[in-house]
Amino acid sequence: MITRISVRTHARDDWVDLTADVEKAARASGLAEGVATVFVPHTTAGITIQENADPPLKQDITRALDRTFPWTGGYEHCEDNAASHMKAAVVGNSVQVIFAAGKLLLGTWQNIFLCEFDGPRQRDVVIKISP
Ligand code: ZN
Repeated sequence: MITRISVRTHARDDWVDLTADVEKAARASGLAEGVATVFVPHTTAGITIQENADPPLKQDITRALDRTFPWTGGYEHCEDNAASHMKAAVVGNSVQVIFAAGKLLLGTWQNIFLCEFDGPRQRDVVIKISP
């Protein structure tokens, strides 16, 4: 079963929590247990599992990525967003989460996030539920 959702990001470095959407897709599958694959089909956005309890942590990660991949870096990419591509490359564009009895088996502090590195944009997310 494949579910596609559309996500509006509001700024560069916006993080959007997808956990409820993924759990909803897992429940809708009717499977007792399985794996949810969450994939973002874009080259300047990523998907990650990270802590949601302390919002400044996301800012810390964003700042660390900014230090590693500054916006102006003398890049040769034809657009002005080479740093966005580099951040997406490091974060990755998919995660997999096991679920059972309609619940994602995430750790206490884990949530699933879309990481926008070049927004604001309308982003597609694909969720594949497998047994
Ligand atoms: Zn580009």
